[in-house]
Amino acid sequence: MNVVDNVRSKVLIEKFNIYDKNKSVISGLGHEIIHAGNFMFDNVNYFQRIKPFDKLDSNGFTNNEEIRTTFLSNQVNEALGEPQRKVYWGIKVPTSSIKSTTLKK
Ligand SMILES: [Zn+2]
Repeated sequence: MNVVDNVRSKVLIEKFNIYDKNKSVISGLGHEIIHAGNFMFDNVNYFQRIKPFDKLDSNGFTNNEEIRTTFLSNQVNEALGEPQRKVYWGIKVPTSSIKSTTLKK
C-alpha cells in the first residue's frame, strides 16, 4: 500500500520550494532500515564505510555509508512518489501523522 499521496508530496515541494531536500517520515524510516540491512548483511564493509571523512563533501555527506544508503533509499522515495535525495541534510516538515505527508496545521 502506498501511504503517500503524490499530490500531497507535490504540495510539500511547492510550499517549501526545497525539491531535493524534503522527504516524509516513511522515507526517513526506509533510509534507517537500509542502514540496518547494510550492517547485518555486509558487516565488515559497513565498518569501513562509517569512517568519517576529514571534512563534509560538497553534498554534506559525512561518510561513505551515508552516500551508499542515501543512494539506495532513493528507491524508497521513488516508490513513495517523493523527490530523489541528492544531499545529506534535510529540513524537518511537520505532518499530521507519521503515515502522512499532509502538513500539520
Ligand atoms: Zn543515514
